[in-house]
Amino acid sequence: MHIPLGARVIIDALTARGCEAYVVGGCVRDSLMGRAPHDWDVCTSARPDDVRAALGARYSVIPTGEKYGTLTVSVDGALFEVTTFRGDGVYSDGRRPDHVTFSDSLLDDLARRDFTMNAIACHPQTGLVDPFDGAKDIRRRVIRTVGAPQARFTEDALRIMRACRFASELGFSLDPATADAVTALTPMLANVSAERTSAELIKLLLGAHVEHALCTYRAVLSAVVPPLAALQGLTQNQYHFLDAYQHTVKVVAASPPAPEVRMAALLHDVGKAACRTVDEHGVVHFYGHAKASVEAARALFAEKLRFGGDFCKRVLLLIRHHDAEIAETDAGVKRWLARLDEPAFRQLLDLKAADAAGHAEAAREVHAAKVERLRLLLDEVIASRDCYSLQSLDISGHDLLAAGREPGPPIGRLLRALLLAVIDGTCDNKKPALLQYAAALEAETAPPAGSPCNRAHTGDF
Ligand code: ATP
Ligand code: MG
Repeated sequence: MHIPLGARVIIDALTARGCEAYVVGGCVRDSLMGRAPHDWDVCTSARPDDVRAALGARYSVIPTGEKYGTLTVSVDGALFEVTTFRGDGVYSDGRRPDHVTFSDSLLDDLARRDFTMNAIACHPQTGLVDPFDGAKDIRRRVIRTVGAPQARFTEDALRIMRACRFASELGFSLDPATADAVTALTPMLANVSAERTSAELIKLLLGAHVEHALCTYRAVLSAVVPPLAALQGLTQNQYHFLDAYQHTVKVVAASPPAPEVRMAALLHDVGKAACRTVDEHGVVHFYGHAKASVEAARALFAEKLRFGGDFCKRVLLLIRHHDAEIAETDAGVKRWLARLDEPAFRQLLDLKAADAAGHAEAAREVHAAKVERLRLLLDEVIASRDCYSLQSLDISGHDLLAAGREPGPPIGRLLRALLLAVIDGTCDNKKPALLQYAAALEAETAPPAGSPCNRAHTGDF
């Protein structure tokens, strides 16, 4: 195992003080699998004060979770979490231990960990410490709890979600007893905080084996994202060969591994169940489902999951427009760029391409080809350096104020109307022409005398 120099330096310094220290957890698991670990954690018999004494003089030691025994040590710019051996105390709420108990025993520390594959320590000189046969489980590609699964999931129900997340990332299956406990205890996920569930959900969605995980652990996914439950068995129309849940799974798996796009893919059709109608010819429709999905996703973000406001906004935008018709013209693409910005528009095309992949064959090819053409058109528009944003408009709010208008929202509306006129080719992107066009627009929409309202025509995006 190639343990990076920084981790070895830390282990050597702690050993020199008479303490035990090892790399442990995800980094050991990933190394044994031949995957590159994204970070290296150290566990040690040293108490936080000893860690500080051993390393503080030469390296910066940051108290990132001292209460839980964790300090972060920076060695040549690389960060390592160093955590004192713990034997976690009682879990009275299934969320977090009431208190953590520091221990002198590596075995205690490995025994408190969730799965055998995550309960392996490694010392640069003496090698692996693997009391629960985690290396064998890795070879068998099996996720198995350390100790009795019922007890371990009852202690901390997040581990149920973590089992599914690792299945998605690694392509492993659950050991039968672990799987049975997942099935029996899934409702306990309700006790887990939104922050912890949300972090695991994102990791699950980004996994290379997400299709397998979403199909196999439907009940867990529906516990975390309740509107998914109504998609199961929801039959669709001639454009689809899958039910709405299976379609959703395909769309997630076909999306690029970007958190916003995968989350939007997961939620893009959650409003379908409420919108399903059958017309007089027996044809199924889902009129208005994009809007209904936005509302369901918004409620989910407010009540069950916890993400940053900007992330939620971008996901909702993608859901809102996932089935929007985009005209295959320069002006059509520019209108979307004026509305979304380039990264969001590219993500929308990614989502549309993934959505196409989840349709029946004929519809799939038509939609996929259209997205490809739109991507080419978008590249051309970007390369052309034509105007498609307020920033590239040859007139600003200041210019409109300088020409005698009152400050306020109508200025913003007028600017957007001018932008649309430039995009559509009805006005040159030159200040004099724009000023003239603005005056004409205002004259056209001037209210009758005495009306309090004086709104510029804003055009329809
Ligand atoms: P990743 O590669 O995603 O970081 P990881 O295995 O390192 O995977 P972390 O969430 O970083 O996962 O946790 C580090 C280690 O802490 C795990 O390997 C596991 O040993 C232990 N651990 C984390 N969460 C729990 C938990 N809820 N219950 C028990 N042990 C846990
Ligand atoms: Mg980790």
